[in-house]
Amino acid sequence: MAENNSEDTNQHAHPNPENPEEFLDLKLGAPKTVAAGFPAVLSSASHVFGEMDVARGMKALFALNQTDGYDCPGCAWPDPDKHRSSLGEYCENGAKAIAEEATTKKLTADFFAKNSVAELASLNDYEVGKKGRIAQPLFLAKNATHYAPVSWDEAFKKIAVHLNNLSSPDEAVFYTSGRTSNEAAFLYQLFVREYGTNNLPDCSNMCHESSGVALNETLGIGKGSVTLEDFYKAEVIIILGQNPGTNHPRMLSALQKAKENGCTIISVNPLPETGLISFNNPQTLKGALGIKTKLTDIFVQVKINGDMAFLKAIELLLLQEEEKNPGSVFDKQFIAEHTIGYEKLIESVKQHTLEELSEECGIGLDQLKEVTRVFKTKNKIIACWAMGLTQHKNAVETIQEVVNLLLLKGSIGKPGAGTCPVRGHSNVQGDRTMGIYEKPSKNFLNKIESVYGFMPPQQHGYDVVDCIHAMQEGKAKVFMAMGGNFLSATPDTTYTAEALRKCKLTVQVSTKLNRSHLITGEEAIILPCLARSDKDTVDGEDQFVTTENSMGVIQMSKGSLKPVSDDLLSEPVIVCKLATATFGNKSKVRWNEYVKHYDSIRDDIEKVIPGFDNYNSRVRKLGGFYLPNSARDRKFETFNGKANFTITTFEKQHLTEGELMMMTIRSHDQFNTTIYGLNDRYRGITNERRVIFMNGKDILSRQLKAGDVVDIYNHHNNVERVARKFIIVEFNIPEQCTATYFPETNVLVPIDSVAAKSNTPTSKMIQITLRKHIN
Ligand code: SF4
Repeated sequence: MAENNSEDTNQHAHPNPENPEEFLDLKLGAPKTVAAGFPAVLSSASHVFGEMDVARGMKALFALNQTDGYDCPGCAWPDPDKHRSSLGEYCENGAKAIAEEATTKKLTADFFAKNSVAELASLNDYEVGKKGRIAQPLFLAKNATHYAPVSWDEAFKKIAVHLNNLSSPDEAVFYTSGRTSNEAAFLYQLFVREYGTNNLPDCSNMCHESSGVALNETLGIGKGSVTLEDFYKAEVIIILGQNPGTNHPRMLSALQKAKENGCTIISVNPLPETGLISFNNPQTLKGALGIKTKLTDIFVQVKINGDMAFLKAIELLLLQEEEKNPGSVFDKQFIAEHTIGYEKLIESVKQHTLEELSEECGIGLDQLKEVTRVFKTKNKIIACWAMGLTQHKNAVETIQEVVNLLLLKGSIGKPGAGTCPVRGHSNVQGDRTMGIYEKPSKNFLNKIESVYGFMPPQQHGYDVVDCIHAMQEGKAKVFMAMGGNFLSATPDTTYTAEALRKCKLTVQVSTKLNRSHLITGEEAIILPCLARSDKDTVDGEDQFVTTENSMGVIQMSKGSLKPVSDDLLSEPVIVCKLATATFGNKSKVRWNEYVKHYDSIRDDIEKVIPGFDNYNSRVRKLGGFYLPNSARDRKFETFNGKANFTITTFEKQHLTEGELMMMTIRSHDQFNTTIYGLNDRYRGITNERRVIFMNGKDILSRQLKAGDVVDIYNHHNNVERVARKFIIVEFNIPEQCTATYFPETNVLVPIDSVAAKSNTPTSKMIQITLRKHIN
């Protein structure tokens, strides 16, 4: 058996990597039953004012998510269309995100002279992130031990030389994270396509790619169909594989309002998440008085990846009701007018028995019937989901099963109903709209050609998993990342680290230091950029950028804080200067015009991308504008012009003797790869991240006890992956299911275990075994 030596990851993940024998003082408390409230206010304040003075902190918070302010760099949850609370339109995690990026701590040349890359690499994600903002461009020469300052011109020249020396443009890879604005993303893909490749992997490949594929095939649009207003009109909201209390906290306010309007909320998840139990909204009088709102009416505690079996069971029970009283349960008119495949779906649903489905999802018949009673009479249903659905082998089909349920009920394209894949990072949806996609459509490429007069590459490029393989195999030699922390966000960390090290050059456009700056190619460059909250001025005129939220609203984002350094450039300017350095005067694109005023970028976006007519004028209106959404209008732009039912294949999950299923989760003190702190307040965890949540029976049956320290193994495809030293925490989780924090256990996520059709790593279904750790 091959061994995938995971030493790197174990070291970096531990809070005290200098002394991996030592754990911090883990404290366990009871999981919380109410989210937000006063503790959230306190936590927000302590994070923000721990990083900057009160004046800067207040300025940052009051502009956050306001119509004339800047868009939160956290998640992609939408803001109210027009009226925004002057008390603050943000959540605890939005405040933490701002504390991170608006910090006044900065990393001067001195810092890099004193700290070698190897020394910094021995720190964990949390410690590296706390160092401060990067204040000038940096270069790591071949065989050098320390980053050294470099001028912007020199940095661009070095990158251009590498790019121009490759034997094919396909030997370069250009990654994008969800922070990148529409303007920067549009220019970036334009630069990459003029350079000659479609190698544009993005963070979406690792999160909602499965949603995009599933929704495109069934409904003809890869985005969700609902608006925030729909939440207030819904009769039922079903939330699958999502933890909004931590990952999209302001969604709780929308759920609260939905509840007040009589909505029933059903949560489907292996863990009972505090944010879905009840909510104390600190911005309302009720909340200030400590009065909580119960959110979830029915908590369906499925086994990991039991969602498809659960959904099929509900469809089967609804079918039985429909057959008793035809026309009373399914929306036959909608089905006849707008869909294809109803009969085949019914045939396939009948192939299953309730007993088998119940056993597979881990939900008893009584509760399945209780959920069915709710769906039976209601037709305004919203289905929300996140990575609990998207990061499984059968993710695309599970999401298509969600669509099947909505189509049966006619719950698409009408007020109070529809699909809601909740995006994790602020502009991840907008980046895709702007053309950050390794498989661009013919129409998009034709448009680029007609507007700019060059022929973009037609061959599909690498997504995230493909580009890691390409770097490993020496096929990709230059890696550039527009934001993000590629190493910590991707699967199979050791394999990915090796891949990055094989590159000739790695380039990161970043605000803060992270682990991806410390595991580098032969040479490495860091280009420090302005953050969302930073004031961006060109020739004395303030500029703004735009973003698209999870519900397809385009709005402006204008930072107002003084940048921590005079040596930072905005992302759009970085792309333009890099393009000029790479192409010289051979480019067909007016890069020099774009840097003078961002309106000129938006003028060209309007020419290329549908839905952006009068972009500059409409985006200046209060709250911005909605992009067209065909499914919302009951127009299904699929290959057959109809909404399609899908016959999904249902496979039983098999664990061999001694195996457990593991899913990676986020703590309340983190946003994606950014670790704000070492606590997970809602789950009762203080001061430690190296924990494994387990069912009490699984602990006992292994002759273990809570508090024991174990090593976690994965043996996918006969490669041994190991993550050492995790403390067992007994938790309310179904038997044979476990949970650990991302990115600490990414080392266990096999690079070759991906979702069918979307190629998304299966970070929520990792087969593991445990061994007691021996010192
Ligand atoms: S809900 Fe998301 S977008 Fe809104 S403030 Fe919180 S982290 Fe930011």
